[in-house]
Amino acid sequence: MAEDCIFCKIANHQIPSDFVYEDDLVVAFRDLSPVAPTHILIVPKEHKLNLSEYGKEDEQLLGHILTTTAHIARELGLEESGYRVITNTGPDAGQSVMHTHFHLLGGRKLNFDKQ
Ligand code: AMP
Repeated sequence: MAEDCIFCKIANHQIPSDFVYEDDLVVAFRDLSPVAPTHILIVPKEHKLNLSEYGKEDEQLLGHILTTTAHIARELGLEESGYRVITNTGPDAGQSVMHTHFHLLGGRKLNFDKQ
């Protein structure tokens, strides 16, 4: 756990959040400022800055995050309509919370700006 990391505090239940899932490795909770009808953050409990800090040794955890995300999407009824998974990494991507997290977005047609 990193001091003054808001997602570490949420993962440790030191700050209340609207949780939708938890296991030994990850938590998932509703984003405070949703940009889609369903906007969930999937957060590994281990503190790392972002995807750039992961290596071969993390393949199992990263696979677990993605299969868990698919599970949550199914549970929330997004499987047929579809959804998007995003992890903003660094300044150019607009990462604002410095603890790895994956956004799960769904419930409306999502535009995609590739620029
Ligand atoms: P990013 O810009 O990719 O780093 O995303 C950070 C996300 O965390 C944003 O969508 C915020 O709305 C969200 N967020 C920040 N603080 C909280 C919080 N305490 N609970 C839930 N979501 C949060």
